[in-house]
Amino acid sequence: MNNTRHNINLTMQNVKPKKQLGQHFLTSQQIAKDIVDALTTNGNAIEIGPGMGVLSRYLFQRPELNMRLIEVDGESVDYLKANYPEKADTVVFGDFLRLDADSFFGEGENFSVIGNFPYNISSQIFFRILEYKDRVPMIVGMLQREVAQRFSSGPGTRDYGILSVFLQAYYDIEYLFTVHEDVFNPPPKVKSGVIRLTRNSVTKLDCDEALFRRVVKATFGQRRKTIWNGLKSLGVNLIALQDDPVMKKRPEQLSVADFVNLTNKVASQIPRQG
Ligand code: SAH
Repeated sequence: MNNTRHNINLTMQNVKPKKQLGQHFLTSQQIAKDIVDALTTNGNAIEIGPGMGVLSRYLFQRPELNMRLIEVDGESVDYLKANYPEKADTVVFGDFLRLDADSFFGEGENFSVIGNFPYNISSQIFFRILEYKDRVPMIVGMLQREVAQRFSSGPGTRDYGILSVFLQAYYDIEYLFTVHEDVFNPPPKVKSGVIRLTRNSVTKLDCDEALFRRVVKATFGQRRKTIWNGLKSLGVNLIALQDDPVMKKRPEQLSVADFVNLTNKVASQIPRQG
């Protein structure tokens, strides 16, 4: 007789990894501990994609943390609630990319973020976190190694990109360590890297921040081209800036401060309305 269906919430069978959800379960307890130890904040924290709870287990051991776990896989949610019944209320079934943080904690409260992120949506996760940047003092995350390096690498390196600039504008970023594929079930095809982002003291960039975002996106959208060519898509007449030396550079050569300067130059060429 097959009674599995009735037992599903009572047994503690392992979750079957689902590729489309980016599920690669970490099997090393030591690495899980190291990742959790890297989170040095107290108070509210969200774990994205807890899966079978390899990190959650250590997070739950820290009474100074007020955890919420958000997981899009129903089977993992059932597993966590069955295995951590006293923490069942902290496990939320949902998509982090659609999260309203105010439904988790009090309105406007700060929260840190931790997770072994689903690699297929790690950029989207960071864009979403940036929307909450003034409330997120620290992020500790495991990502595909190349992506982790990209976020933490400075101007002049091949990996430097749009998210590097946006994240480095507001966070100090440390590459902590590399994780080999054989400590996951199933092993991913790539190596992983753990990074820590600590909010810096910048509350507002010294420029129009919306224009800053457009300038960064426009220039990296044409990564192989010069700044001059990349900025054409903005539709602003920049002819007066044509001989400025920055126009001959490429986006990956510019630091956050250089982009701020560039944004102010572009702004000076936009006719005032009214
Ligand atoms: N933290 C676990 C699992 C990592 S795999 C471990 O280290 O073993 C990534 C996890 O993210 C999976 O459990 C997957 O179901 C979950 N996930 C994928 N997309 C998600 C989303 N949009 N929101 C929340 N969780 C998501």
